[in-house]
Amino acid sequence: MPTLLTRDPSDAVAVLEGGGTCAFPTETVYGLGALARDAEAVEAVFQAKGRPGDNPLIVHVADLEAVEGVATMTEMGRRLLEAFAPGPLTVVLPARSGLAPTVTAGLDTVAVRVPSGIALEIVRGVGAPVVAPSANRSGRPSPTTWQAVLEDLDGRIDAIMQGPPTAIGIESTVVDASSRTPVVLRPGSVTLAQIRDVCPDARNADHGDGTIRSPGTRHRHYAPRATVTVVDLEDAQPGSDAAWIGVSEPPDGYGLATVCADLEDYARRLYDAFRRADAHELTRIEVERVEGDGIEAALSDRLRRAAAR
Ligand code: AMP
Ligand code: MG
Repeated sequence: MPTLLTRDPSDAVAVLEGGGTCAFPTETVYGLGALARDAEAVEAVFQAKGRPGDNPLIVHVADLEAVEGVATMTEMGRRLLEAFAPGPLTVVLPARSGLAPTVTAGLDTVAVRVPSGIALEIVRGVGAPVVAPSANRSGRPSPTTWQAVLEDLDGRIDAIMQGPPTAIGIESTVVDASSRTPVVLRPGSVTLAQIRDVCPDARNADHGDGTIRSPGTRHRHYAPRATVTVVDLEDAQPGSDAAWIGVSEPPDGYGLATVCADLEDYARRLYDAFRRADAHELTRIEVERVEGDGIEAALSDRLRRAAAR
């Protein structure tokens, strides 16, 4: 079946309600939606993405009341959701039954988010929990435009909503809020400092503690075909075979250069710049190093993962 392209959110709602798979924009990246209580629809998401079965999905719902339909609310979960929902923050909570078992990859917790904008409109329209992992082939950069979704998933999913490019451009902050001490499992545009304003004890995941808190972080992610190297401006090595992505103006000689206005712009444009470098068949991508605790933490996490071989 060819993939339906539509500009109408109500078409997306109809496809999802019918048990189909439909990609739509969220404020972070494009998500691949399916009914979270429909095991076949959820299986179609794993198949289309080629996603490993041990990597659980984020469930998207319309409000806090709907969160309690899929998860047991905790004190920390409530504080976080009251502060950041709707928005680019996912909380991990004890799971209730009723979801397709593959959604949680067999864990007794579930990741839940209340998205904003068009995604919220769609989830409200469906009126039931919707899984929506990033709408890319597993291992590829997450899609920030509908064209990127089409590139990866044409013919593999039922529909794509042709919405605008996504505003944030990197995936949501994931926080384990199942215990008294919230743990940031995946950095995102909601920063640790912002989280600590409402949960002062929150901390980053300690990868030295031996437990893999977020199964998905085990897998290689966000990577273009070209080899990615994280560099400082003074170590830039231009060439017609290479792309530059960063906030600094690079030396002349790159085959492609993406110079971002600021760090938010860097996050917004990163994955599209990866895909453009691949489309131009460049073999190297140099990404400018960033350091800091704000959006820098999320950006440098994505740069590091893209550079990992
Ligand atoms: P994606 O949907 O592609 O943005 O990826 C979802 C991320 O959330 C992955 O890193 C998952 O491992 C993580 N995640 C989903 N459910 C859980 C859970 N129950 N516990 C910990 N991490 C989770
Ligand atoms: Mg993903």
